[in-house]
Amino acid sequence: MPHDHHDHDNHLDPMEARTRALETILTRKGLVDPAAIDAIIETYAEKVGPRNGAQVVARAWDDPAFAEWLARDATAAISDMGFTGRQGEHMQAVFNTDTLHNMVVCTLCSCYPWPVLGLPPVWYKSPAYRSRAVIEPRAVLAEFGLTLPESTGIRVWDSTAELRYLVIPQRPANTDGFTRDALADLVTRESMIGTGLPRVPA
Ligand code: FE
Repeated sequence: MPHDHHDHDNHLDPMEARTRALETILTRKGLVDPAAIDAIIETYAEKVGPRNGAQVVARAWDDPAFAEWLARDATAAISDMGFTGRQGEHMQAVFNTDTLHNMVVCTLCSCYPWPVLGLPPVWYKSPAYRSRAVIEPRAVLAEFGLTLPESTGIRVWDSTAELRYLVIPQRPANTDGFTRDALADLVTRESMIGTGLPRVPA
């Protein structure tokens, strides 16, 4: 299936090339600090971006009607929360259960649901993750510190330009009465890619 953006190993796409050129010029002129740019990107990839997805998950945990809508038409349910834009036009939510764990990869490049997760982490774009997630998902998960019972099935979803996936992890135990914000605080980026689980409440 076609992928409308490219992070292939041997070339820069035009936008990336322009971005790098701009960064070089601005750095040479002393107008920006590359470390500050890295910090901004890291913040967006790890904090700002995934907070949108965390709000979607928390609402799904808290509101069965929303969860049903999310399962049926994730694109509409997510855009109802205001999370729309490029790389999120066609979304599918995949729900973990007691017997099934979902995990997302883009084997061809790095397709990722930007409106709900922000920028993809470096490991998501790595050739090792992209190939091994499909071949030996259980071993890959173990390397992320997630060891699932043998009885839990693993389903790997291969993202494309047409369809991006959001994993809806199971709601942690002992969270009755939590506000939606408190629930969202438990939702990690990795739990929405499927390489981790939500935090357990203290
Ligand atoms: Fe891709």
